[in-house]
Amino acid sequence: MKQLNLENYKGIIFDLDGVIYDITGAIKKSVEDTVEKYKLNVDKNEIMQEIAHLIEDLQNYPVPEIILNSYNLLKINFMEGMSYFKKLRIGIYLFTQFNKYKDAESTLFKGMDNLIEYLSKRKIKLAILTNNKSTYAEEVLQKYNLNKYFNYIVGFNDVSETKPNPEGIFLILKRWKMKPKDVIFIGDMTSDVDAGKTSKVMMICVASGLAQKEDLQNHNPDILVDNTEELIKLFHQ
Ligand SMILES: [Mg+2]
Repeated sequence: MKQLNLENYKGIIFDLDGVIYDITGAIKKSVEDTVEKYKLNVDKNEIMQEIAHLIEDLQNYPVPEIILNSYNLLKINFMEGMSYFKKLRIGIYLFTQFNKYKDAESTLFKGMDNLIEYLSKRKIKLAILTNNKSTYAEEVLQKYNLNKYFNYIVGFNDVSETKPNPEGIFLILKRWKMKPKDVIFIGDMTSDVDAGKTSKVMMICVASGLAQKEDLQNHNPDILVDNTEELIKLFHQ
């Protein structure tokens, strides 16, 4: 098992969903409902990542923009060949089901609160970089009393380009006055891996359920772990 020497780092940037906050339950249930309702002949695990991205987009954009961009937003592999209106019905149903499950099904990954507290005690600077709204991240962290550990939260509203663009990472490096080699970025999607690799920070990827491990591996993270339990072990508390 690989281990990290914390002495070599001054800051850690966390993605929120899929790393600290577990929304996989809500996404899986909404996918299951949709597959059943529309009798879709798909591999649920394969479409999970696409759906996670779609849900992220839908959470980010204001409604008029979603309506205007719906044609492009719904250009999704597993819906190829369907009529635009069928895609729209499926997309709306998915998002409705996700919102229904989101609060009840989502929770912190076990032990992540302890890890965050531990890193903060070790004087490591902590930030969040999410493609969601920064206020969403604030609300989630506040719910678990974790906001005090993060001195910088960057959401899609704080950058002109979201991940996979590394703009958000560079913004945090600048605020912290740190070099890429001083910083670790932890994410769970290929877009995170690409942002981390481009910015040349230490990129740790957690295959926590939404993206396929093989897919993540193909994007070459510096370290790839199977779940948050393995992630926590990397820091050897
Ligand atoms: Mg994520």
